[in-house]
Amino acid sequence: MKNLVSRYLLVLFSLFSPLPAFLLPQSPSTESGSQLAAKWTLVIHGGAGGPAKGVMPAEKEKAYLDEMSAVLQAGAKLLENGGTSLDAVEMCVKMMEDSPLFNAGKGAVFTAEGKNEMDAGIMDGKMGKAGAVAGVTTIKNPVAAARAVMEKSEHVMLIGEGAEIFARKQGLEIVDPSYFFTKDRWDALQKVLQKEKEKQPGDAEKHGTVGAVALDRYGNLSAATSTGGMTNKMKGRIGDTPIIGAGTYANNRTCAVSATGHGEFFIRHVVSYDISARMEYLNESLSAAANYVINEKLKSQGANGGIIAVDKDGNIAMTFNTNAMFRGSVTANGKSEVAIY
Ligand code: ASP
Repeated sequence: MKNLVSRYLLVLFSLFSPLPAFLLPQSPSTESGSQLAAKWTLVIHGGAGGPAKGVMPAEKEKAYLDEMSAVLQAGAKLLENGGTSLDAVEMCVKMMEDSPLFNAGKGAVFTAEGKNEMDAGIMDGKMGKAGAVAGVTTIKNPVAAARAVMEKSEHVMLIGEGAEIFARKQGLEIVDPSYFFTKDRWDALQKVLQKEKEKQPGDAEKHGTVGAVALDRYGNLSAATSTGGMTNKMKGRIGDTPIIGAGTYANNRTCAVSATGHGEFFIRHVVSYDISARMEYLNESLSAAANYVINEKLKSQGANGGIIAVDKDGNIAMTFNTNAMFRGSVTANGKSEVAIY
């Protein structure tokens, strides 16, 4: 009897629910009469900044392009087979965290004290749910921990030791901090420290943050971002990556965004949410919103960086105001590209 009453109440509630559409469970799209839409889109980045064209050795450029192609290929397979955008962005970011080429997971940059402190964030645009970790030093894949925070805790963000205890309890892989070391990043820190000593402006290789955004065949958007932050950052500094709305944001009504660049500016300008808000309230297209925020607003503040984004219709933006942004995209029609400059 009690069951019957509660079921009745549930039906009544869902009939008259004031919840916004994006919070309600969505049934798979029925485009062209089939269960799933044919359309899906995946965009990734491996950080903005980087050297001007011609400075990076050709074989290093090739290594980046090959790695991004492999990530796109794996993500494309997942989405084509009806996988969710959430699984796709987590998997792509994990692959880039595992690659020493990028400033996330293995290959993260060093703090001024010579440690790796990492941040990651993830957001599910269908449910409006988000998760993040910050300042973690032993979680092999910070993005997996961010997803666990979103799905297995009451919270949105966990930091430092608390995040690590939680990740361990969730059965995520824990590694010794030395796992994240790469000589390239260590040398980059030494270069910046030396320049500081000589009172020269430091311009370390700061690019390398990774991110992914996707639209799946159910019409759902997701975003994920992971980073070691910025070379020579202060112990305890947290960037935009794990701040929902700054470095990572997804909303089925508008778009999914993952950012890279000088985090302090991206936090102050709430960059990812700003792009979504311009679409929602000003009816701007994704490319107009992204272009305004990155090339006008941030640029006028002297802020470097870029974003990747996909909107609910599968339109793509890869917008940056730096020399380079490691980036790539693939869509259901087989169109795929990777680029640096
Ligand atoms: N946005 C990152 C941060 O500030 C760094 C980057 O994208 O290069 O932590």
